[in-house]
Amino acid sequence: MSLIKCKVHGESGVVPYVSKKLSDKIAIGGIHSFKDFTVLNVVFYDGDDILGSDKYYLLNDEVPSEIIKNKPILIHTDEDEVNLNTLIGRSFLGGGCCVKCFNNCVKNLTCSK
Ligand SMILES: [Zn+2]
Repeated sequence: MSLIKCKVHGESGVVPYVSKKLSDKIAIGGIHSFKDFTVLNVVFYDGDDILGSDKYYLLNDEVPSEIIKNKPILIHTDEDEVNLNTLIGRSFLGGGCCVKCFNNCVKNLTCSK
């Protein structure tokens, strides 16, 4: 597991697929509800077998219209992965979030505003 230098927790584990903007917002306590961000479930396939999956966390306005929310994104080929990266990869540059900050944030979230 890679490490991140957190202003609050010091050297800490990292949640990798948190967009830069969302991570910045979490750092200032700006996320209060599950409605404040989007979770994309990305599932990687090898043929018909599921290799694994990742959750990608973004601010709502960072999700391009090509991506349907609440629907898993299925990656079957290298091309699928490149396409996904083209759509949202930029949001994750400099992203990633301290795992303790992230867990604290999620723990305090409400389901509605
Ligand atoms: Zn932290």
